[in-house]
Amino acid sequence: MDTSSLRFRTRAIHVGNEKEPRTGAVVPPVHVASTYIQPGAGTWGEYDYTRSGNPTRSGLEATLASLESGTRALAFSSGMAAIHAVTMLLRSGDHLLAGTDIYGGTYRLLHKILDRTGVEVSLVPATDLAKVEAAFRPETKLLWIESPGNPLMSITDIGACAELAHRHGAWLGVDNTFASPVLTRPLELGADIVMHSLTKYLGGHSDLLGGALVVRQQELYDQLYFVQNATGAVLSPWDAFLTSRGLKTLELRVREQSRSALRIAEFLAEQSWVERVLYPGLPGHPGHELAARQMQGGFGGMMSFELRGGFEAAQCFVESTRLFQLAVSLGAVESLIEQPAAMSHASYDPADREAHGIRDGLVRISVGLEAWEDLRDDLLQAAQAAGLAG
Ligand SMILES: *Cc1c(COP(=O)(O)O)cnc(C)c1O
Repeated sequence: MDTSSLRFRTRAIHVGNEKEPRTGAVVPPVHVASTYIQPGAGTWGEYDYTRSGNPTRSGLEATLASLESGTRALAFSSGMAAIHAVTMLLRSGDHLLAGTDIYGGTYRLLHKILDRTGVEVSLVPATDLAKVEAAFRPETKLLWIESPGNPLMSITDIGACAELAHRHGAWLGVDNTFASPVLTRPLELGADIVMHSLTKYLGGHSDLLGGALVVRQQELYDQLYFVQNATGAVLSPWDAFLTSRGLKTLELRVREQSRSALRIAEFLAEQSWVERVLYPGLPGHPGHELAARQMQGGFGGMMSFELRGGFEAAQCFVESTRLFQLAVSLGAVESLIEQPAAMSHASYDPADREAHGIRDGLVRISVGLEAWEDLRDDLLQAAQAAGLAG
């Protein structure tokens, strides 16, 4: 069947999920074998060893490539393993430029692991294209961005960044975990590499850890495949199966989560105990117009807001919600809440955190699939419990 003309949610169900011909099972079996019998000594079949390739993982990779408008995908044991594989394309003396509004774990990888290899790392506010342009060096090999950014929900112009990167002979890599391919497909906008933490929206149920890279160019795929096979951080067959199952409802989940998040953002924006709401779906957000162009049919389920009252008030607030569970991570059916300064971005230098606008009173939420009215009521009762609202 030619699947290229099918719509997103149809491909999420049918691409990479070919029926099993022998039994007719509508769900492909999970291939747990670590090794495969070969036709002859030195003659290799399609699969030889599960680190190098596994049918369950291949099925998922086909779905991911289709949903991200790429040609090839690679599934990793975690999002960090996927980012690490990209950084392994760089050598001593190369320069990596990254946005300031990035995942805390990426910041740690770039500043505390990659720096050991002699790769130079610098950060730039990626929303400011003039600053991005000025930060390129002759040895810059990779520009790494996230949009919406984490945790401030900044919106970066992916197409403009791709143009800048290519003009300077660098690749553009986009961590698309927050937007998901339902809302944004960076490869269509010119990016070279798209990365996901499968742990979040793509898996969608807080029950697996995984990562992925998707590319269009075969040569880049070959380089990344070499790194993955040589270093070994592949996704297990069980987690590949769970991710494939999650992907089938991805579009429905993300659309509904975006709808609920917009309503909650509008509610929060009216509350006297909220200093400011950072949600790209609100017209007052500095990236709203760009987000409306770059994100299709919604603004995602993630938002941050700053409480009046600083660190203690935010701490008390995040410990007082009942439906929003106090945990890092995001993108699943259950709503989560956290305090970036104390949790997801605690690995930043405090000075860097301050300089990047991650204030102590900041709270980040991931809106799940509960009824939005129940979530709204939960936030209000937490504000009352924290002594913020009457
Ligand atoms: C969670 C996350 C990662 C890291 O993924 P893991 O699966 O936890 O290793 C990277 N980027 C973003 C935006 C994330 O939310």
